[in-house]
Amino acid sequence: MLSNSLIELDRAHLVHPVASYRGHEQQGVRVLASAKGATVTDARGHQLIDGFAGLWCVNAGYGHDSIVEAAARQMRELPYATAYFGLGSEAPIRLAAELADRAPGDLKHIYFTLGGSDAVDSTIRFIRYYWIARGQPQRDQFISIEQGYHGSSTVGAGLTALANFHTGFGIPFEWQHKIPSPYPYRNPVGQDPQAIIDASLAQLKDKIETIGPDRVAAFYAEPIQGSGGVIVPPKGWLKAMRNLCKEYGILFVADEVITGFGRTGPLFACTEDEIVPDFMTTAKGLTSGYVPMGAVFMADHVYQVIADGAGASAVGHGYTYSAHPVSAAVGLEVLKLYEEGGLLENGVKAGARLMAGLEGLRDHPLVGDVRGRGMLAAVELVTDKVAKTPLPAEAAPARRVFDRAWDNGLVIRAFANGVLGYAPPLCCTDDEIDAIIERTAKTLDQTLEDPDVR
Ligand code: PMP
Repeated sequence: MLSNSLIELDRAHLVHPVASYRGHEQQGVRVLASAKGATVTDARGHQLIDGFAGLWCVNAGYGHDSIVEAAARQMRELPYATAYFGLGSEAPIRLAAELADRAPGDLKHIYFTLGGSDAVDSTIRFIRYYWIARGQPQRDQFISIEQGYHGSSTVGAGLTALANFHTGFGIPFEWQHKIPSPYPYRNPVGQDPQAIIDASLAQLKDKIETIGPDRVAAFYAEPIQGSGGVIVPPKGWLKAMRNLCKEYGILFVADEVITGFGRTGPLFACTEDEIVPDFMTTAKGLTSGYVPMGAVFMADHVYQVIADGAGASAVGHGYTYSAHPVSAAVGLEVLKLYEEGGLLENGVKAGARLMAGLEGLRDHPLVGDVRGRGMLAAVELVTDKVAKTPLPAEAAPARRVFDRAWDNGLVIRAFANGVLGYAPPLCCTDDEIDAIIERTAKTLDQTLEDPDVR
């Protein structure tokens, strides 16, 4: 049972990620106590459908005994083994091989990290090593996209396009550049898919030419921009951007930290646009959030250049917990559940139902846009559908909508700009998807009645 002292202890000692510390102190923590399938239960016994799979990571759903057993078995046999000094252990080797086997194209080399931020950070280092090895050390400029999210490491946060990750400490660095987001709902060129693709191509080309084509190291894109508000570029956008990078000889990084592992349907969203990036970053669904782990997929042609360039010297990049055996054992079991356990298949079915259900809310007076792919979706709220007026920021709509949904038994992501994000576990049943839609509709109706939000 939740005791007040837990709230007090949290307030006094636990610093929360991406939070207003004062706001959090005032509000008090909401403590989650247990979970099974797609349902989480808080410490007061209130049950909710987790429409956001934790932080878009518990793709397999909660409470899989086989995952728990895989971790326990590994902990009993060998809880830790370093991958330094030429050492290793079985689970990460097997997981690397399984992932390479499923990865598109020549993404055959896997570097395990602890999560997504350090996966992105690792690519920055690998890319620098690559260009130095190719005798082009001046290629040290990186391009990413407005509304993009690539983690919170101090260097990687400069690729992330969030002002509150930057202000006051000199990031983005001068070598980190952005182009506009291909945001269909609010794109100045309108919603025509080809116009959006052409605009992005022109913006990237322009940026490359401005920086100098021989100075650009890499371009980063999420197949769907997650933390920017689930922004779904038109079909063909990713391929067009990838091809432009190829023309310029610039490395292309697909950040699949959210989209990987069945979130949009297949194991990797890249494959939906039939592209092979030079690097792919993943985390979250890799271990379904049961334990921390990320993975950088590196193309063979990149790996060979770095390996030759370093020769007998060590490539200076590593973590104590790189290739952690317990995380890898969990990753292997999670992969089995996605494939043999039918979770990917169920995710596709449930995703179609989710999208159809959310589309059914389009006529609601507060709904400006509905978008998504598979089990990754968003509803963008507006006060005026024609003018696409966002909900008034001073009413803190995200907090209000989140709290109402919570009381209605639904966990969603409520972005500050009034976008509601959905990323339920892939195990959702039809009834659970329907409940997500019903509870969203109820939450929207209540929000409509709220004079401060209109
Ligand atoms: N890249 C993307 C696309 C992400 O969405 C995230 C996290 N939401 C990250 C990187 C960073 O991952 P982590 O929080 O595991 O460090």
